[in-house]
Parts: sequence; structure tokens; C-alpha cells
Amino acid sequence: MLERTFVMVKPDGVQRGLVGEIISRFEKVGLKMVGMKLLHASEKQANDHYVLTDEWVEKVGNNTRDSLTKKGIECKETNEEIAKGIHDGLKSYLRENPVVAIVFEGFHAIDIGRKIVGPTESRTAPVGTIRGDYSLDSYDLSTDLKRAVRNVIHASGDKADAEKEIALWFGGEDIYDYEKHDWTVMVKHKK
Ligand code: ADP
Ligand code: MG
Repeated sequence: MLERTFVMVKPDGVQRGLVGEIISRFEKVGLKMVGMKLLHASEKQANDHYVLTDEWVEKVGNNTRDSLTKKGIECKETNEEIAKGIHDGLKSYLRENPVVAIVFEGFHAIDIGRKIVGPTESRTAPVGTIRGDYSLDSYDLSTDLKRAVRNVIHASGDKADAEKEIALWFGGEDIYDYEKHDWTVMVKHKK
């Protein structure tokens, strides 16, 4: 149950001055920050961060197709072509300005992180989530503007992704082990 998740304030989040607010939400829920840095993503980091799995190709392909269909535009691209275009867009999005890369540790850190962040599309993300509260972007807008959805923040989706992403952005360095005072509140009853 004790796990680590990778969180990144994307370039739009940094530009819009949301770093403090975002970190505060993770701190308040009880997660422990064990690594944090501002950096300009390398080409490799931007390229390798998002992997074109079959599942992702289908998800982004269908969302883009639905958005075009609603507007009465016929989508001639395959899901693979759509996903490749979005992946290219994501690479430039992640590299257009610095990002803040963070590792949070705690019980259920991955699920809790995703809950705080909210679903991918800000337009439909619930109020109270970071994406719902701090961005208004949509699949409609991103499809229109031919760019990735600008949704302020990334958080790992599962354990395998978290491990891969922490290795990619931190490479085993700048992660700190330390005792955090409020930890005792959560574990004091454990025998
Ligand atoms: P999440 O960040 O919620 O885990 P994904 O892993 O599916 O979402 O996608 C990675 C990122 O790609 C999203 O955060 C968003 O910036 C962008 N994205 C996802 N789907 C689309 C889409 N249909 N059109 C444009 N950009 C997208
Ligand atoms: Mg994801």
C-alpha cells in the first residue's frame, strides 16, 4: 500500500503560476514529497514519457473522432494516425517551457494522486479536481487547435507507469528518504 507516484506540473501549469497550489493539494491529503525539481524536459524524456499502447491509441482516437463527428466533420484518419499526431503534439507541449517533476510517497499514492488530478479532459473533470478547477481545455478545443489537451498536470496511472516515469525523470537521483511528522498519525495504531 505504501507506494510512490510521479506527478508533473506541465508547462501550462508552471506558466500560469499554479505550482504552489498544486503541491499544496498533495501535501494536504497526506502525501510526502520525496523528490522535486524544475527542469526543461529532454527530447528523450518528452518522447518516452507517453507510450503508445493499444489501449491509449484507442482512447485518444475515439475521443478525437467523437469530437469531430459532433461537429459534422468526417474523420478520415485511423486511430494510429490520430494517436501519432497527439503524441507528437505532447512532445512539443512538454518541451515548450520548464516543468516541475515531483515524486510523492504514501499509502495508495497512485490512486489518490489520480483522484486529486481528475480525468483527462478539464471541461468534464469534476469541480474539486485540479484539472476541473484550473483548466477549461477540451477534446473539442484541442482537436480544433491541433494540439494536446492542456490540462495542467500529469500523475502516474498505475504502479508500472510510476516506476518507469520516476526512473525517466529522476534516474535514481534526488529522491530523499526522511521521516515526516504526520506519518505517525497514520501508522501509530499498527502493531
Ligand atoms: P492522462 O494524462 O489523464 O493519464 P492520457 O494518458 O490518456 O491521459 O493522455 C496523456 C495526455 O495526452 C493527456 O494528459 C492530454 O494532455 C493528452 N491527450 C489525451 N487525449 C487526448 C486527445 N484526444 N486529444 C489531444 N490530447 C490528448
Ligand atoms: Mg496517462
